[in-house]
Amino acid sequence: MRACVLTVFVLGMAPLQAVAEAFDSCVAGLRKIANAQGISQSTFDLAMKGVEPDPDVLKSFDYQPEFRTPIWDYVSGLVDEERITDGRERLAQWAGVLDKAEQQFGVDRNVIVAVWGVESNFGRIQGTRDLVRSLTTLVCANKRQAFFRGELMATLHILQTGDIAPDALVGSWAGAFGQTQFMPTTYQRLAIDFDEDGRRDIVNSVPDALGSTANFLHRAGWVTGEPWGFEVQLPANYSGPSGRRTKQSLAQWTRLGVKRIATTGSKPGQTPEAAARSENTQAALIMPAGVEGPAFLVFRNFDAIYGYNAAESYALSIAHLSDRLRGGPGFATPWPTDDAGISRAERREVQQRLLDRGYDIGVVDGMIGAKSRSAISAFQSSNDMPVDGRAGQHVLKALRTSK
Ligand code: CA
Repeated sequence: MRACVLTVFVLGMAPLQAVAEAFDSCVAGLRKIANAQGISQSTFDLAMKGVEPDPDVLKSFDYQPEFRTPIWDYVSGLVDEERITDGRERLAQWAGVLDKAEQQFGVDRNVIVAVWGVESNFGRIQGTRDLVRSLTTLVCANKRQAFFRGELMATLHILQTGDIAPDALVGSWAGAFGQTQFMPTTYQRLAIDFDEDGRRDIVNSVPDALGSTANFLHRAGWVTGEPWGFEVQLPANYSGPSGRRTKQSLAQWTRLGVKRIATTGSKPGQTPEAAARSENTQAALIMPAGVEGPAFLVFRNFDAIYGYNAAESYALSIAHLSDRLRGGPGFATPWPTDDAGISRAERREVQQRLLDRGYDIGVVDGMIGAKSRSAISAFQSSNDMPVDGRAGQHVLKALRTSK
């Protein structure tokens, strides 16, 4: 019996010890690479002091969300009245910095502020995970190793220059940080010292964050004075070309019967004809929810926004938020659903009402995570509703009216 217990004990401990040893030897290997790239021993030692693997980071890396967010939920959470109001306040508060950014980089201030609002809720949510720890964990667990090793080395360079204090180098589990949520290598290439205090600090300096975002979009090919695109009306039973990469001239789209809905994508006072530079301007047709939903012709600037975060839903949300910030209306064509998405204020209301009924949703934060979704499913189930765990208008209404 004793031998048996001992065997179990040894087998139980061995993997942990092996993991720790592998981690230490991985860190030793990283030291050599860092030194070869100009990172001093003292910078490396300071950064790596007491670093241990972060199991939550590996969980996040491996997590495959089983829940696919419909585009109308995605846009409703990013472009709501709260963010429009916040954004307009920021436009006024930082007008001088935005003037300078527009002059220097030629990028529309509404787009700069929209990116800021979506990336970090205007600096409020920048992430809390230690960058060195997260990136070392990913490298040493062999997760996209070359990529994350490059990001780790960039992080060590940032520490070595002293542009950002070590305790401020926190962010998402994957290493995006600051008010702009740049990856460390993006920071190295594109962050700028826009308040001219000698440090590129996208964590604490709003001017540095706004200037760096403008610089990013400029370098991603922003065309000054051109809109991102506009909403269009498709001819009945449209079955022609579409997709962000399929480009043709505005004149060709017009020949296919694609018509601009004039209220979107323009600056106040700008005529539809002036919104694009000419009939030869190259444009692509996107239909994020298929032919039944809103459709858009998008130009080069849409691609620049896409460069910031490679998802059409993201680029469309930034583009639309920028229109709303300058006073434009919502989309003319409704999303093809009878259960539209809800704002963050409404999401908080859903959470609070579930909490009041005794459901466990964690904290009321307007972010519908796994706990909120299971609570919604339970509520739907006990109210004879279709069970999908989704926070939409139907659930909100049911929570407001049911006992
Ligand atoms: Ca600065």
